[in-house]
Amino acid sequence: MTNHHIRFKPPDPQIAALVMAHAGKPEAVLEVLKGVQDLYGGLSQENIQDVALSLNIPAERAYGVASFYSMLSLEPVEGKIIRVCDGPVCWLKRASEVQIALESEAGRAGYTIERSSCLGLCDRAPAALVVQEQAGPVNPGDARKLVQGERGVSIDYSHPRRGEVRVMMAQAGMVDPDSLQSALSHGVYEGLKKALSLTPEQVVAVVENSGLTGRGGAGFPVGRKWRFVAQSGRMPRYVICNADESEPLIFKDRVLIDTNPHQILEGMAISGYATGSHEAFIYIRGEYAAQAARLERAISQAEEANLLGESILDSGFSFHIHVHMGAGAYICGEETALIESLEGKRGEPRARPPYPPSYGYMGQPTLVNNVESYAAVPAILQNGAQWYRSIGNHNGGTSQPGRTPGTKLYMTLGHINQPGLFEAPFGLTLRQVIDEFGGGLLPGSQFNFALTGGAAGTIVPPSLLDVSIDYALAAMDVSLGAGAFLICDHTVSPIAFLRELLHFFTVESCGKCTPCRIGTQQSLLILNRMTLGEGKTGDVQQLRQLADLMQQASFCGLGQSVAIPVKSALTHFAKQFQSSEQAQ
Ligand code: SF4
Repeated sequence: MTNHHIRFKPPDPQIAALVMAHAGKPEAVLEVLKGVQDLYGGLSQENIQDVALSLNIPAERAYGVASFYSMLSLEPVEGKIIRVCDGPVCWLKRASEVQIALESEAGRAGYTIERSSCLGLCDRAPAALVVQEQAGPVNPGDARKLVQGERGVSIDYSHPRRGEVRVMMAQAGMVDPDSLQSALSHGVYEGLKKALSLTPEQVVAVVENSGLTGRGGAGFPVGRKWRFVAQSGRMPRYVICNADESEPLIFKDRVLIDTNPHQILEGMAISGYATGSHEAFIYIRGEYAAQAARLERAISQAEEANLLGESILDSGFSFHIHVHMGAGAYICGEETALIESLEGKRGEPRARPPYPPSYGYMGQPTLVNNVESYAAVPAILQNGAQWYRSIGNHNGGTSQPGRTPGTKLYMTLGHINQPGLFEAPFGLTLRQVIDEFGGGLLPGSQFNFALTGGAAGTIVPPSLLDVSIDYALAAMDVSLGAGAFLICDHTVSPIAFLRELLHFFTVESCGKCTPCRIGTQQSLLILNRMTLGEGKTGDVQQLRQLADLMQQASFCGLGQSVAIPVKSALTHFAKQFQSSEQAQ
């Protein structure tokens, strides 16, 4: 692509108008490209050059962004797009048959059918996205109804399951998520009022003392992160809410936003006060248009009521929140890739250190927490750190030393009677997840294995059903990650399942580093032939070597963590893998 400086033709006025609507900010390149695609049904080279010219950025940067995100297309898009999820949960629910049924039905109605990595609708599997509308379950026989406008029914989380302890979901079904008055009548923003009556240092101390840990998967102490930003010594500072949940099996941010969006805004405002930040972003995945709209609505309501914006509640503390939508890239859930994307670049991870608390958005100190972490904060401010610490381990008593305090959102899926989301303290065993919260295995099913944590989690055999699961426990044979459990019965081959996971990682590898880009492809090739009964001698050893290589040499957590499911599957299902080698 040539540089824009050699062009003399003025840019397309519609594109120039889009750029003006984003104040000509180069970091808005992704939004502008999305707008252009909506206008013209695809991104031609000329369009991309016009975007670059209007934003005063090099054409190669605009092209780099346009070619990075799966929801942007360099080809003309014919008709409206239906994206059919082929994540592991939808795969278990016969998503490939749904795609075939839709291709014949929707093609006649002028839709284009595309596969998609996990859509974040795992509790509605098999799932689809009709333009921007979320749909599911969509079974193969439902193709016509989907084209005619039916979108399926989502699970109602208004009522807790037996054994749940709700903190973040306490107001589910009580608060109208689109009404500030409803939120206020249930005590939302009381935590912010409490925070504003304390000093920022006192607020940091409350969160530190509560023992709240990041709920996105890493389990890093939230208060410690806040302190790093608060003590960074440089201004401006920023707050980011990571709502890019694109990992297969994970959909809790969507449920939280749909349940009580003001609670999340409140948690963010408290963090802004504590860290001395005045501007914030919610980076939400591009497939969550409905949730992004809900957040935008909640922000305007809160600004109107002086609960966000300038001098909140006449305190002198100002805090503005903006919603930024991604465009289909799992890697943007990695915090530095997310920041790059927010700055209007390809969502490729940065080298760390420096970490975002010292060098984040625009090179400034930046706090990045997950939606679930922010949602836990208001109740901690209202009720105190000791109250949060007193929420017991699931298997009895108050939280013990070496155990994670508070509650977690869990997602349980697959061959169980009651899939969906629930909230409970830490320390659950997989057996409890299945029997107490998941309604037991489906009739006729025998437990074979579970994938725990998320796509980059552990594959767990029956012998580990009674291991207590907690971030704080060193034994990582059963990882907690973002809190997902996909239960697979005797009909699911661990080799075929691992193949599906590697397919996902291969598609979503950003390609920046060789160990991950090539390692995922090579592993997928091996698993493809094993699945077809064409395994070769040495395949198992090569899979293990590739996993080691990716773990040790990949640039970021995506490539490094592919080894977790691979190695756990090879360890726990060694016989199956060995016999697939001998099948040739
Ligand atoms: Fe990109 Fe994978 Fe390398 Fe991460 S490990 S930078 S996702 S290629």
